Amino acid sequence: MSSKQQTKYIFVTGGVLSSLGKGITAASIGTLLKHAGFRVGVLKLDPYINVDPGTMSPLEHGEVFVTKDGAETDLDLGHYERFLDSSLTQNNNFTTGQVYKTVIENERQGKYLGKTIQIVPHITNEIKERIVLAGEGKDILIVELGGTTGDMEGMPFLETIHQMKHELGKSELMNIHVTLLPYIRTAGELKTKPTQHSVQELRRLGITPHMLILRSEKRIPSDIKRKIAYSCDVDEDSVIEAVDAPTIYEVPLLFMAQDILEPIAKQLELGELKPNMQLWSDLVRKIIEPTKKTKIAFVGKYLDLKESYKSLTEALIHAGANLDTQVEIKWVDSEKIENNTAKQYLVDCDGVLVAGGFGERGVEGKIKAIQYARENKIPFLGICLGMQLAMVEFARHVLGISEATSMEFNPETKEPIIYLIDEFIDAAGAKQIRTITSPKGGTLRLGEYECHTLEGSKLREAYGSSTIYERHRHRYEANPIYRERLESNGMIVTGESDGLIEAVEIKDHPWFLGVQFHPEFTSRLQNPNPTILAFVKTALSHTDGAE
Ligand code: GLN
Repeated sequence: MSSKQQTKYIFVTGGVLSSLGKGITAASIGTLLKHAGFRVGVLKLDPYINVDPGTMSPLEHGEVFVTKDGAETDLDLGHYERFLDSSLTQNNNFTTGQVYKTVIENERQGKYLGKTIQIVPHITNEIKERIVLAGEGKDILIVELGGTTGDMEGMPFLETIHQMKHELGKSELMNIHVTLLPYIRTAGELKTKPTQHSVQELRRLGITPHMLILRSEKRIPSDIKRKIAYSCDVDEDSVIEAVDAPTIYEVPLLFMAQDILEPIAKQLELGELKPNMQLWSDLVRKIIEPTKKTKIAFVGKYLDLKESYKSLTEALIHAGANLDTQVEIKWVDSEKIENNTAKQYLVDCDGVLVAGGFGERGVEGKIKAIQYARENKIPFLGICLGMQLAMVEFARHVLGISEATSMEFNPETKEPIIYLIDEFIDAAGAKQIRTITSPKGGTLRLGEYECHTLEGSKLREAYGSSTIYERHRHRYEANPIYRERLESNGMIVTGESDGLIEAVEIKDHPWFLGVQFHPEFTSRLQNPNPTILAFVKTALSHTDGAE
């Protein structure tokens, strides 16, 4: 364990092209360091100009991940939480847009004393301050720079890294470059040239990589590793291969098998490191070779881009690993159900999951899926919009309120089972105003809120606690005016947060739970989310019962 107070930094950059799994690589290194006893922090730098990804289309950007303190961030932060089993905050991710916004606001307030504002030093200083803030209280901060070396947007960040090398001692900082080693089939060769060029580009910008992590579809022979070490001027033991793994959670183990911590410990003067990865590797084994299996219907609308449900699909993997079970996902496009029977899609499934979402598209199909799960007593979990629609379905088909809907789809509806509250107190204790005309982005209920669980409920049973904390990202709420009618007909409110309905269950059903919160955001491999774990467990017993 490091005795020094000074935070050490590991900068992770990417070369050649994007989508190399830089985030997983960085998270894997962080996991090993954490299991070796260090306090590890992470920071994701996003070079795009958006102030946050909250208003970016999921088709454009994958999932919006929500932190405990209500920041809408890049989905990579989700990977970090899942690997490091720790909760991050808005200090763990920032964008170029945020940096410029602060600098321009400072300039308007005269904070730069009339100086000409420039990328160096004003923008780079702001970046540096934010990096240092993210590292406070940590032994090691892993800083991942989004994008690829050579991108115009990334330049101020690389310049900052270059400056930090001069300001900190040599052993306080390490640069890791993740690049691609393409395999050219016709030549039967792994090609090193793109990596050499990317490293040259980094050096031109004043950054010397201390380690190269090479993404490759094939194992890399030692002569190629040696060639790269020579041509890129890194030590041979610092050329690490990252071949495609059956699960992302195996990556830390594959790195450990290559003694990746040795050159890291040498560069950062960390002493001898012995990470304890026993529990982790047991879970990975259960992901790769599970002894049981269950099949869950995942009813959603962005099925072309499954990345937009990343946290949820990972949470199902975590639950499966902890139950030694393969969770097979059957993707069901809710729009397809609209013109067909739900049965034809759901009959072979052990559980039905209706995920969150925004907008009216596909909603009627989701309602049909919920009705099928309710009437046929199939384990059901509705998340956020999934809970809201479960209440609409119940109101329509059990209470007989045929016009029941959410104000999200019909602001003028006479039967707003789901409505918009004008005022609420946010996670920071501040009053927020939401109306139908308030601008998008700023009016969501975001982040962690306390929820009280009802004794004897499935929710209480899942958590074993009367008070739970989960994260939110929604604008509409369940309307308490209907509560009495719902409850007297068998749909019970089993979770409440400061007067808001947080969870509903159906009395006469083996396992039917709708939650307003997003349980998937707090699920980690070594600490699966209780709601999702309980759902998968019930689906599994449904499988067993059916056999
Ligand atoms: N669209 C719904 C709302 O805004 C649900 C949001 C969600 O599922 N994340 O309340």
